[in-house]
Amino acid sequence: MGETHSVTNQAPPLADYDLFSTDPGLVGAVQAEGAGWAAGDLKTFGARLGTADAFALGDLANRNSPVLHIFDRFGHRIDEAEFHPAWHELMTLAVGQGLHSAPWAEPKPGAHVARAAGVYLMCQVEAGVQCPVTMTYGSVPALKRQPEIAAEWLPRIYSREYDRRFRPGPEKTGALIGMGMTEKQGGSDLRANQTRAEPVAARGPAQPYRLTGHKWFLSAPMCDAFLVLAQADAGPTCFFLPRWTPDGARNAIRIQRLKDKLGNRSNASSEVEFDGALGWTVGDEGRGIPTIIEMANYTRLDCALGTSGLMRQAVAQAAHHASNRTAFQKKLIDQPLMQNVVADLAVEAEAAMRLALRLARAYDRPDDPAEAAFARLVTPAAKYWICKRGPMLAAEAMEVLGGNGYVEEGPMPRLYREMPVNSIWEGSGNIMCLDVLRAAGRSPDSLDAAMAELKSATGADRRFDAFCTRLADDFAGHAPHEGEARRIVERLVLALQGALLLKHAAPAVADAFCASRLDGDHGGAFGTLPAGVDAGGIARAAAPLGTS
Ligand SMILES: Cc1cc2nc3c(=O)[nH]c(=O)nc-3n(C[C@H](O)[C@H](O)[C@H](O)COP(=O)(O)OP(=O)(O)OC[C@H]3O[C@@H](n4cnc5c(N)ncnc54)[C@H](O)[C@@H]3O)c2cc1C
Repeated sequence: MGETHSVTNQAPPLADYDLFSTDPGLVGAVQAEGAGWAAGDLKTFGARLGTADAFALGDLANRNSPVLHIFDRFGHRIDEAEFHPAWHELMTLAVGQGLHSAPWAEPKPGAHVARAAGVYLMCQVEAGVQCPVTMTYGSVPALKRQPEIAAEWLPRIYSREYDRRFRPGPEKTGALIGMGMTEKQGGSDLRANQTRAEPVAARGPAQPYRLTGHKWFLSAPMCDAFLVLAQADAGPTCFFLPRWTPDGARNAIRIQRLKDKLGNRSNASSEVEFDGALGWTVGDEGRGIPTIIEMANYTRLDCALGTSGLMRQAVAQAAHHASNRTAFQKKLIDQPLMQNVVADLAVEAEAAMRLALRLARAYDRPDDPAEAAFARLVTPAAKYWICKRGPMLAAEAMEVLGGNGYVEEGPMPRLYREMPVNSIWEGSGNIMCLDVLRAAGRSPDSLDAAMAELKSATGADRRFDAFCTRLADDFAGHAPHEGEARRIVERLVLALQGALLLKHAAPAVADAFCASRLDGDHGGAFGTLPAGVDAGGIARAAAPLGTS
């Protein structure tokens, strides 16, 4: 065979680099939010995740979705999901890093921020494993409300050993926890839950009940136990449902099928029935929604972190490609319009990451009333806007790679497909925005805490100051109408992101953010930064391996 052509002008794969150290915004944010002590560990984790081998695991785990085995070959019911070995390797990495429980197991100032940075790094390689990891992290405060259950299960949850075996709790060296709220007739309106719970004997906290009903979505069904919402006589109640009962039998949690999902394909999301499944009350009967929503706040934080990580990886891929691809005799990264696109994407991703890490800092200080109030308002707000921007950013980053971006062999289609789920689950966009209005109305201190954050940056930029004045008017004197919620929450988040960038980011990034997002000189697509910003500098800085 003669040679028909030579292969030239193709960007090399972006791999074998340290995801942490090549992201100066992240390094700065970890320091600014109080977890500078974790930099060495994050560097090691970032270098491990950045290997070609780790990226390949993420790819494999998503090409080989889990398979449900309802029965064994003899006809016994087993209800087990089988995962590809790559999934287990990724879980070993995530659990080994303590992303599922380190801030609870080894509490110290900055522990939630350090973990948050780890989540951001992990999701760049594979976001599916984050689902059981996140739910386990979020379950701990709820479990602590029930000391009997906490005493038995927290030591297993705190273990950094990923024990993949489907065995009863006492035999496990590490455990993971899932969460079941959503039913067919409604996921947002949890009071409509139909699953019934009847006491085995006595009623009350930590008592056994039998649950009968279903869950329409129950992710990571191979978790060792779930926090589940069901109706007891006093109303929606939170139950702890282990996969195995104390007598060593499989609990009556029947997996009906696995969802065939747009993305998040490495992770199993199931439909289940409870056929008299044995569960123990966590908290009082009728108080289940606040108990399980406490868990959901942590998972919402992780939606913002996970999307920020996905954004960073999409931007890194785009900037890397543009740095290595030539068109019309010039590198793409040197073409003014491409500089604008990559810079605009990079500004968005850094703004998302900085807000998500700042929010994690609030979770580090639950005993500080102002920080707790900040988390109350900003968790749903950040989850809404960051996750809403993700799909748009991924689509534009994909286009930077031209046709290669659309091809499944590369990383962009998976990043693109992964994005929308963070906006849908754990409280969809509208629910988040309505929650922000509710928090602002019922807890004025939460609005005060957000405004204090803005105040800490006033005077740094006149566009920011003017934007904050208009934002204060949104909330002043009247309760905003529900129909306005998205607009108001968007503005609140933009102001917070502006404040964080002005205080901590490179001046060029903060300037580009203020000129576009706050001063109104921004188009409907990415790549519409106004003239005068340093698009070239921002775009080049976004390439993890630099530009030649
Ligand atoms: C891949 C995947 C995995 C999941 N895993 C789990 C899991 O492990 N456990 C679990 O419990 N759930 C899980 N979910 C379910 C998810 O949390 C729900 O789908 C979500 O909360 C929305 O509920 P719903 O689907 O019933 O939609 P609905 O509640 O019917 O909402 C539909 C739409 O209406 C909007 N809406 C609702 N009320 C209002 C209102 N008052 N005003 C304006 N708009 C409104 C919502 O924002 C949404 O856009 C999963 C979902 C997915 C996609």
